[in-house]
Amino acid sequence: MTNKKNIQQATKAVWSGEKDYLAHGATQVPVVHSVGFGYDDVDEWYEVAIGKRKGHIYGRNTNPTVQAFEDKVKELEGAEAATSFSTGMAAISNSLLTVLKPGDRVISIKDTYGGTNKIFSEFLPRLNINVELIETGNHEEMEKAIEKGCTLVYLETPTNPTVKITDMKRISTKAKEQDALVFVDNTFATPINQNPLFQGADLVIHSATKFLGGHADALGGVVCGEKKLVDAIYHYREINGATLDPMAAYLLLRGMKTLKLRIEKQQKNAQKVAEFLQTHEKIDKVFYPGLSTHHHHDIAKRQMRGFGGMLSFSLKGELDAVRQFLPRLNYAHRAANLGAVETTVGPARTTSHVENTPEERAALGIPEGLVRYSAGIEDGDDLIADLEQALAAIKE
Ligand SMILES: *Cc1c(COP(=O)(O)O)cnc(C)c1O
Repeated sequence: MTNKKNIQQATKAVWSGEKDYLAHGATQVPVVHSVGFGYDDVDEWYEVAIGKRKGHIYGRNTNPTVQAFEDKVKELEGAEAATSFSTGMAAISNSLLTVLKPGDRVISIKDTYGGTNKIFSEFLPRLNINVELIETGNHEEMEKAIEKGCTLVYLETPTNPTVKITDMKRISTKAKEQDALVFVDNTFATPINQNPLFQGADLVIHSATKFLGGHADALGGVVCGEKKLVDAIYHYREINGATLDPMAAYLLLRGMKTLKLRIEKQQKNAQKVAEFLQTHEKIDKVFYPGLSTHHHHDIAKRQMRGFGGMLSFSLKGELDAVRQFLPRLNYAHRAANLGAVETTVGPARTTSHVENTPEERAALGIPEGLVRYSAGIEDGDDLIADLEQALAAIKE
């Protein structure tokens, strides 16, 4: 890994990736809206086109603003290369379809993001790619499945919405014995809390829409890893066309400057909220890796630098209580996104796992009354007071 610059994540979030793209003395990366990039010298044009010389040809392939965004994420993940996408799901689907072919076998967990789960259950089997989904957090069972041989191990840790943890180093070690690739969706943890490439992963994937951007105003996806693998994924994307828009790249780039600050505040708030909810009489269960009661708190403590801004909880009164509780919150958007500066809440059944049937959700351990809570950067005591009054309004 080329982690040559010995500077900290907070500094990288602000400075990395920008210098090459500043022009005319500007201190901020410009939004280059040009679709085509012109050349008077046809030989130079040709050399750029075949990748012999740096430069841009056509907006579906590369763009300076988009590259600045990729470079910043690359530095934060300590990677050799990065490439970006129009959304997180485009990053996931393009990466999978770059490396998989009919007859391959994929091992993953049952709790991947709803969209990812659909790729595994619906689209890959259609291509005659076999997918085995393991109970999330059952490392022994996953190791046994890997030992039977596989092409790819796909992880997501912590998971959405019950924030389950997988030991990346342990599973990657097993995967390497089978020469299998390891992909990790790092959306929830962000490069502030963990760098999967240093835990044995070959590719780290982000929905930049969430914490990286942090302001819920731009969609995007990005993957990082060794150049050879990332180049292959880039090639798949440049042809298939799920390109990140330059304006979105700019918004994500700007959002990322405060990544460290935001994550620190969000996880401080998440811990506080989780501890408060855990003792509340109307709450059934609280899921947060920062709680000592969390099933894999020990693994989280070992592989993460912080526990993140995401938690979930179930109300004793189930869906009926959720219906009464959610509208009463003053400082939380009731919306499907997460990772923004504003606290955002929503039932799993209408957000991350809307694609699943109630039976499928039950099999995943997602009660119909589960609320996903993405802590924002507000004052923690205000968030607690807000939760307290909304919980008090639930009628038995
Ligand atoms: C949101 C999300 C995705 C998908 O990202 P989009 O940008 O919405 O396509 C993938 N993985 C996780 C963990 C997510 O939270």
